[in-house]
Amino acid sequence: MGTARNFIHISNTQTMNAHIGKRIALISVHGDPAIEIGKEEAGGQNVYVREVGKALAELGWQVDMFSRRVSSEQETIVQHSPLCRTIRLTAGPVEFVPRDQGFKYLPDFVQQLLKFQKETHIKYPVVHTNYWLSSWVGMQLKALQGSKQVHTYHSLGAVKYKSVDTIPLIATKRLAVEKQVLETADRIVATSPQEQQHMRSLVSPKGYINVIPCGTDIQQFGSIDREAARAELGIAQDAKVVLYVGRFDPRKGIETLVRAVNQSQLRNSGKLQLIIGGGSTPGASDGRERDRIAGIVQELGMSEFTILPGRLGQEILPTYYAAADVCVIPSHYEPFGLVAIEAMSSGTPVIASDVGGLQFTVVTEKTGLLVPPKDVEAFSVAIDRILMNPTWRDELGQAARKHTASKFSWGGVADCLDELYTQILDISVPEPVLVSK
Ligand code: UDP
Repeated sequence: MGTARNFIHISNTQTMNAHIGKRIALISVHGDPAIEIGKEEAGGQNVYVREVGKALAELGWQVDMFSRRVSSEQETIVQHSPLCRTIRLTAGPVEFVPRDQGFKYLPDFVQQLLKFQKETHIKYPVVHTNYWLSSWVGMQLKALQGSKQVHTYHSLGAVKYKSVDTIPLIATKRLAVEKQVLETADRIVATSPQEQQHMRSLVSPKGYINVIPCGTDIQQFGSIDREAARAELGIAQDAKVVLYVGRFDPRKGIETLVRAVNQSQLRNSGKLQLIIGGGSTPGASDGRERDRIAGIVQELGMSEFTILPGRLGQEILPTYYAAADVCVIPSHYEPFGLVAIEAMSSGTPVIASDVGGLQFTVVTEKTGLLVPPKDVEAFSVAIDRILMNPTWRDELGQAARKHTASKFSWGGVADCLDELYTQILDISVPEPVLVSK
């Protein structure tokens, strides 16, 4: 596999740089930052790690992002920018493993990471872990070598298990690990005040939490206007376009959206278009939800004006957001919800469930509308309010763009994280000490 050689080759440059930069490991065992986003459990966490990594590197951090290798075709190391790379460790089978089944491979992951450090003469003074699986890895590194640990949950078991019918076997372990990391990490990053509240009320009153939101690329999302975007996608300029972007997972509430559009007053106008973007090819693990949604679309006789274009790549995503009149996020719960700020950055108003981080990012009646989750009627009314009033739609869209640019850029997020790491590492320039005789 040539893994060790790769590690050693890169280590020469890294060792040279070690003295001039600050070094960090971002650990995301199941959320590979270099993988295609939008399918099979790859979503916001992958984007977060990749963008945080790149933005920290811009600030001079040497960033190594560790993930588990899931295919023999994947490269061991992906260089994103001179100071930022993804490193894939072989721990467990080299194939996709659903996250609920990933815990047993973590001890091996820790061993591989330690081996990598040894071979490259690197030791990470700070590790920023993502999702509960990685938090366990971070706690071992903290115990074994004193690395400082910062943790972002991305999803809380305590919240998730309240809304699912079947609790997985791993639940007890997950809840215990999530409590332990909150109480022992040097700092927890909550991406919204709502997430912070859940940690406090459902996980533990102990531990240190900073609220630092997620970000978005405000240059990329907002780079094209509606007219040009529609021309590119072959959508009529007078169409009324409702867009969903995200993974296919029952908790995303796509069924609510489909049923809401079915009740729209514009249902039979010949102008309505529903685009449900995301998901893998048929046969992949998220295919069951995709097939279920496609089945409902057909059953309701909506096939003529509904398209499921599959996973949308980074290059085309801004065009879809810009082409839409409204982007709908009907999730049952979202700790943050990157899609909301991507759509708003693109100048498209958002209708979202009034839950979690969406309450933090979407300002109801200003940048879009918040409605009760799973409420088909409320979503339908909200969709019609925006579709039937293009002037208001434009006002909401402009305010949304402004709101996102001022609050949710990756650069701003990296500035906050930089300050946080610097604080816990205590590597700020020391104050001169005045000695009196
Ligand atoms: N995404 C994508 N292509 C798709 C579907 C989704 O690139 O076809 C991206 C989307 O742009 C966003 C992320 O996946 O950056 C989803 O993040 P979010 O926080 O909204 O949801 P999560 O996946 O974390 O539940």
